[in-house]
Amino acid sequence: MSDVKSSEKGVRCVALLSGGLDSTLAVKLMKDMGVEVKALAVKTPFCDFDCGKGCGFRVKEVADALGVELRTVHLGEEYIEMLKNPKYGYGSGMNPCIDCRAMMYRLAREYMEECDADFVVTGEVLDQRPMSQNMRALRIIERESSLEGKVLRPLSARHMKPTEAEMKGLIRRDMLLGIRGRSRRVQVELARKLGLDAPNAAGGCLLTDKQFARRVRDLLEHVPKPTLNDIELLKVGRHFRLGGAKLVVGRNKDENEMIQALMQDGDLMLEAKDVKGPKALLRSSNGKKPDMDDAGMVPLAASIVCRYSDADGPCMVIISDGINLKEIKSEPIADNMLESYRI
Ligand code: SF4
Repeated sequence: MSDVKSSEKGVRCVALLSGGLDSTLAVKLMKDMGVEVKALAVKTPFCDFDCGKGCGFRVKEVADALGVELRTVHLGEEYIEMLKNPKYGYGSGMNPCIDCRAMMYRLAREYMEECDADFVVTGEVLDQRPMSQNMRALRIIERESSLEGKVLRPLSARHMKPTEAEMKGLIRRDMLLGIRGRSRRVQVELARKLGLDAPNAAGGCLLTDKQFARRVRDLLEHVPKPTLNDIELLKVGRHFRLGGAKLVVGRNKDENEMIQALMQDGDLMLEAKDVKGPKALLRSSNGKKPDMDDAGMVPLAASIVCRYSDADGPCMVIISDGINLKEIKSEPIADNMLESYRI
């Protein structure tokens, strides 16, 4: 007997798939019930699908292994706009989980309508995450995305009111699960039983990282309209606030290359001369281009570059705006001073 009531087109859902353990299980459960699944992965500017620790870790491979079609949507400027002032606030870092999930749900609703799906599926587990997976938050997210009654959470459904899909008989409630809480033990066991290569359970949103959150807060405080380039810059190097500008200093060859690639018109690049050392990008936060001849900020930035170079004492630092070059002699900044500028 099929677990799904048949209809002409069959039962179809849109599933938010992050590639993590819970959403993978949710999709697998739907597939095993005979539901056609269209997977949707939503990438925020703070979650790198390929970084190995992001929420979307190996999502494409997971979708392929599950045999489901995957659509990926990248959120950009609209996400940064929301991040400045999320209606439901931040979690322990700068993670606006309720607003963020509402954005993802909205995209799921649009896709659901587009592909004539019957409902939306997520891998959410009641009370697993403090901010976004308690009953109140889940209801808010549904309401904010106009998906009330249309979101099935197969892993925790037994703890929730029946959804429309269950009430219409599209899904048998007795096939759904009643997992709750932070432990992943049940999910790991279930994955093993279902023959799934249990994916990494860890969420990896950068916004929940305390140090990264400080950088985000600093950016939002100093830059009225941050760009995606500004966000990418947050992900590399050591960061220092020098009044109306920020200095980003590479920590290794890859970061130096990334910093060079992110340089844009108006930025200054600093590098020690004749000794090994980092690349450092000086970017204005107030729209005023940093001036190479600035007698305060540029020598200060150069002293930080000198500090991180292999020079034993003073060194020459090259400053470039992409066209013009200038050299200044610099002393390494003292460590206690350095810390006062660190973001
Ligand atoms: S941790 Fe929160 S803010 Fe980050 S992606 Fe997940 S829901 Fe969004």
